[in-house]
Amino acid sequence: MGHGWEGAVLKLFRAKDFKFTVTGAEQVTEHYRRLTFTDGGLLAALGVHPTMWVRLWFDNDGRPHQRGYTLVDPDVENGAFAIEFALHDGCASDWSRTAKPGDVIEASVQGTGFTEPDPSPERLLVVGDAASLPAINSLLDAFPETPATIWFETADDDELPFRVDPIRHDLRKIARGEDGAALLEQVREELPHFTKEPERIYLWIAAEAKSTRALTAFARKELGVPKQRAHTLAYWRAA
Ligand SMILES: Cc1cc2nc3c(=O)[nH]c(=O)nc-3n(C[C@H](O)[C@H](O)[C@H](O)COP(=O)(O)OP(=O)(O)OC[C@H]3O[C@@H](n4cnc5c(N)ncnc54)[C@H](O)[C@@H]3O)c2cc1C
Repeated sequence: MGHGWEGAVLKLFRAKDFKFTVTGAEQVTEHYRRLTFTDGGLLAALGVHPTMWVRLWFDNDGRPHQRGYTLVDPDVENGAFAIEFALHDGCASDWSRTAKPGDVIEASVQGTGFTEPDPSPERLLVVGDAASLPAINSLLDAFPETPATIWFETADDDELPFRVDPIRHDLRKIARGEDGAALLEQVREELPHFTKEPERIYLWIAAEAKSTRALTAFARKELGVPKQRAHTLAYWRAA
């Protein structure tokens, strides 16, 4: 499959291309599916970091359709990882629903990275949802001793595979409803309690685009969280 103009731009930015082969599939919950893959040489070539993600190329009626997905438990030695798909409308979700061992998908890697916050944070402040759960889990794994408060927007009642430790992690679930307003309201109210000394925290936001934009502006402008203590990236866009 050609990758169209997006592929051409990625090439300009020196994206690296790989082919992943499906080795297994597990329906974790009604709306959450895990596929395992061999990595086509990716991990040996590029190594791993927390929240590492790739751009997968799906076929949308003959047109290339590129979407970000996060590597779960990358195993460098065996060249393998999983990807967890939050299921909703869309080509990527649809592909994952029927993918079976032996299926191959193309991927480009460009734009992923992780800058370790220095000094190490005394608390992680995390805002996300099912699409960013794999990244949230990898972030929590990367800071095994650090307490975290997680505001998690849910779209359904699924019991998702959270890697939270009830002693160190405070998981606050918020139903999404129509437009994400509940998440904004709760985070606006509660986040300020944790950001009085912003150099001691690390804020990580990966939610729907409008919510991510609003909360990023709130944290930076109203709470004074400096750029180096926050990472924010929209993971999906509501129609
Ligand atoms: C860095 C990065 C890493 C990501 N990692 C993961 C991951 O590991 N697992 C994962 O599931 N997603 C992940 N995402 C999000 C994923 O790329 C998007 O959800 C993407 O839009 C899915 O593509 P699609 O073709 O299925 O749907 P699209 O064609 O993009 O959208 C189709 C319809 O579905 C809606 N939609 C899209 N995404 C969602 C959603 N998450 N929840 C509810 N409705 C949605 C849209 O509003 C639209 O109406 C990541 C995104 C980024 C940027």
